[in-house]
Amino acid sequence: PSDTGRVLSIQSHTVQGYVGNKSAVFPLQLLGYDVDPINSVQFSNHTGYPTFKGQVLNGQQLCDLIEGLEANDLLFYTHVLTGYIGSVSFLDTILEVINKLRAVNPKLTYVCDPVMGDEGKLYVPEELVHVYREKVVPLASMLTPNQFEAEKLTGLRINSEEDGREACAILHAAGPSKVVITSITIGGILLLIGSHQKEKGLKPEQFKILIHKIPAYFTGTGDLMTALLLGWSNKYPDNLDKVAELAVSTLQQALLRRTLDDYKRAGYDPTSSSLEIRLIQSQEEIRNPNVELKAERY
Ligand code: ADP
Ligand code: PLP
Ligand code: ZN
Repeated sequence: PSDTGRVLSIQSHTVQGYVGNKSAVFPLQLLGYDVDPINSVQFSNHTGYPTFKGQVLNGQQLCDLIEGLEANDLLFYTHVLTGYIGSVSFLDTILEVINKLRAVNPKLTYVCDPVMGDEGKLYVPEELVHVYREKVVPLASMLTPNQFEAEKLTGLRINSEEDGREACAILHAAGPSKVVITSITIGGILLLIGSHQKEKGLKPEQFKILIHKIPAYFTGTGDLMTALLLGWSNKYPDNLDKVAELAVSTLQQALLRRTLDDYKRAGYDPTSSSLEIRLIQSQEEIRNPNVELKAERY
């Protein structure tokens, strides 16, 4: 077994481009993790393109893979990571998988990106919201919603930093001791809010990071962000602020800036369509991010 960890990552796969597992597996490997990907879908490209084709894994097929691992005594994991999930039956099976893995390793960390939508729009079936709220959030160790997802999970409208902090507190009460709202937009400013409740009932330690908003739309950034938060969290379990600084720094300096520069150099208008991140080209910034953006504690 590796000394850092072994991650079961259940996410999308795209043949071309970087979302889901394509965006999470490489950085986790660079940070020293053994990563076992299960591809919840295999699509030609991400769904932001005009069309896509491919296959969707169903709950039974996920069960088959887990049974295969179990039959060979291969169910020891330190972490499970989940991202985009398209159906209630698949999400229910994931719940069974978490319970099974926790029976093998009671210390299993479950990092959940509750992918449901963005900018006011749901891109999963409405029934999924309820399942996330009632069954998934209670099992999660770390939750990484965006603003819209945090609103869906808490029923709160997030219009201020205070609202963001309160949403984190509500989510702690439901289960996860670590919550990172990866971005909220307030008055044109991008803000990350992190919250670590070190013991049940205690007031959570909270912080924010102000992020310079780049005028372009990127895909796969949420998936990459969650993978980096998992990766650094395991190395600094009691410093969520430092973990978030490292993760945000990689995203800003390396990927977004490098991606933007590359597209511009190639003569593309970065505001015209969604951009694929330059992940492989940014391996140095993934391994050794230069922390420029600092967390401010509340
Ligand atoms: P999701 O893709 O899940 O909605 P976010 O939009 O919160 O996730 O993006 C995750 C991270 O990616 C943010 O915390 C931020 O660091 C970075 N990011 C994404 N889009 C931008 C942008 N336009 N400008 C600056 N940073 C961005
Ligand atoms: N998975 C698939 C198949 C997608 O098409 C997308 C976005 O288009 C994502 C995951 C998530 O992307 P993001 O990290 O930008 O939310
Ligand atoms: Zn997301």
